[in-house]
Amino acid sequence: MVTIDRLIKKVLSYNPKADVEVIKRAYVFSREAHCAQTRSEGTPYIYHPLSVAEILADMKLDTATIVAGLLHDTVEDTDTAPEDIKSMFGSETAFLVDALTKLSKVESKTKEDVQAENFRKMLLAMSKDVRVILIKFADRLHNMRTLKYLPENKQKRIAEETLDIYAPLANRLGIGWMRTEFEDLSFNALMSDTYHELQRKVAKRKEEQQLYIGDIIRIIEGKLMAAGIEAKIKGRVKHFYGIHQKLQKQKIPFEEVHDVIGLRIITDTVGHCYDILGIIHSMWPLVPGRFKDFISLPKSNMYQSLHTTVVGPGGERIEFQIRTEEMDKIAEEGIAAHWRYKEDESVDKRNVRHIAWLRELVKEISDAKEFLEAVKGEVVQETVYVFTPNGDIKELPVNSTPIDFAYSIHTAVGHKCVGAKVNGRIVPLRTNLNSGDVVEIMTSPSHGPSKDWLKFVVTQRAKSRIKQWVKTEERKRSIELGTKLIEDELRRHGVSLSHLKSEKMEKVLMSFSINSLEDLYIAIGFGKVSAHQVVNRLVSEVTGKERPEEISVAKPVRPQKERKNIIVIKGIDNVLYHVAKCCFPVPGDSIIGFITKGKGITIHRMECSNMDRLKEDSERLVEVQWSQDGEVASNAKLFVESIDKPGILANLSALISSANVNISFLKASSTHDKRALFELTLEIKNRSQLANIVSKISQVEGVLSVKR
Ligand code: MN
Repeated sequence: MVTIDRLIKKVLSYNPKADVEVIKRAYVFSREAHCAQTRSEGTPYIYHPLSVAEILADMKLDTATIVAGLLHDTVEDTDTAPEDIKSMFGSETAFLVDALTKLSKVESKTKEDVQAENFRKMLLAMSKDVRVILIKFADRLHNMRTLKYLPENKQKRIAEETLDIYAPLANRLGIGWMRTEFEDLSFNALMSDTYHELQRKVAKRKEEQQLYIGDIIRIIEGKLMAAGIEAKIKGRVKHFYGIHQKLQKQKIPFEEVHDVIGLRIITDTVGHCYDILGIIHSMWPLVPGRFKDFISLPKSNMYQSLHTTVVGPGGERIEFQIRTEEMDKIAEEGIAAHWRYKEDESVDKRNVRHIAWLRELVKEISDAKEFLEAVKGEVVQETVYVFTPNGDIKELPVNSTPIDFAYSIHTAVGHKCVGAKVNGRIVPLRTNLNSGDVVEIMTSPSHGPSKDWLKFVVTQRAKSRIKQWVKTEERKRSIELGTKLIEDELRRHGVSLSHLKSEKMEKVLMSFSINSLEDLYIAIGFGKVSAHQVVNRLVSEVTGKERPEEISVAKPVRPQKERKNIIVIKGIDNVLYHVAKCCFPVPGDSIIGFITKGKGITIHRMECSNMDRLKEDSERLVEVQWSQDGEVASNAKLFVESIDKPGILANLSALISSANVNISFLKASSTHDKRALFELTLEIKNRSQLANIVSKISQVEGVLSVKR
């Protein structure tokens, strides 16, 4: 069992100048503070912080981290005050302990959003100082190693959380050994039977293959010696959870897994890695699709290695990992390698690439749940590597699209993206990018992002930038629309616009609990408040009379039911309105506008089937008219029913195009009783043109009915 002497010996082995006294002091302090507690495994509590400190020493971390490991539970579980830690152990250690205390405070709660918030805090703390997470990991690891002493339901909860968050995060930070141990310990706790069965099978396979593997190693050693290359060859067994996942994913029995036992070759230089690869490939045929070069394209956690699988003697598949000493260290230690005790402290440890992505996320997302999803997404995602036309590499999550790529270059490039070329060919913006693609983004300065992009982009950066743009745009639109509506209403009442800036108006705003004129415009533009109500209130303020009906301002000329605002469509900026997709009104139709939340006015036909529903929200209805001048092409939808006979579609489309009308959408289907149904969307200039087309279509032989 771990003792303070063993811990100190371990620290001195990699850091001979370590401040042993402060470690001893922390140990004594922690032991005294925890003296009344025991762990569920029945040992004095001090064994827990001591074990955590030992794990940190195994990772060769600096003294402040070791000391914080010893003290990590004192403020949380005993009556130690944060100031005590600071005065006795200095502010660096106090900061680490404080961060860890804050982390554990919310941990026992199970509500999902509390967990999310907790997790966000953890990563926030980590983005400030990675040692916080390393201590948290060591703490969790010792708790996992002693998990069996806890009640079963607690075991399951902790194991699930470890598998869900800690293991992927350890992987993302490149700490390979810890990820493996987290996964196998959780696997054992959650599916004990499956775990033990797998363990038996692997042991048996190892026994069977021992001689075979021994032979292979000797063959390669001979070849390497002849080539003058120094290397160590080790047999390695894939970790149990890794095998389990493979069985699940590929739905195959254990007997068909070939890479349970693999070989790892560790050499001195990158050049020798490729030499060794060449030697292996020249001896045995490689299995296609299994060769991966993570040396020239490292994984996002900085993992580097060559992977290949060959068909060895007797038809057995053998998997190889070939890498340098340095790469092997990074594969095991990841980010911890940057924090290990070093004589030379000149390296900027705070700026390693491992956590650059995390800082970015912390900056961009403030909602805890959204953040948790984003990080979970980021830590488990596989990556693709694509190239800019200049040959720069961009690393993106799998399923990224040209839009994700555009936003990864610059927000402005994303916003103005109108098209993309992949490997020189124009592709749809929702295309998934593959490793090796050369991506070129086409932009247009007058263009803005589309809300639809949110349906397919995968990077958090693209998502948040698009959302932000949509929000600002909706706000801008609402202000414009609100201004227009209220000014129209004022004019109709014959009230001067200057009253909007008066004290009277401030009173009106207060009565609606609205802070500023701008907020009022937004509220009107969003359909929350009607311009009519506001103006009535203002008029009664201006005239001092309670009921606006009695005021002798210019009476509306229209009958009562038409008292709402009139907007002439041509007269307002076209961002303010759009044509309803349910009824596709065309110029000449009688129409009505409906204020859509943040999207301006939607124009419906009076006969629209949704009219009854819209009328329930009558405050949002506004009167609109087509402008007299000019012809605006707009879409009209037609439903044509005919008997199902060949050539009818050709006749229809010939007729429509001879009338100089474009068909922008066409869908045809046939019914069981031998009739054909066509759904057409036509670009129509006005109502009379549409009427003309309708009458022509209904005269085509075989057509049974034409409807809008
Ligand atoms: Mn602890």
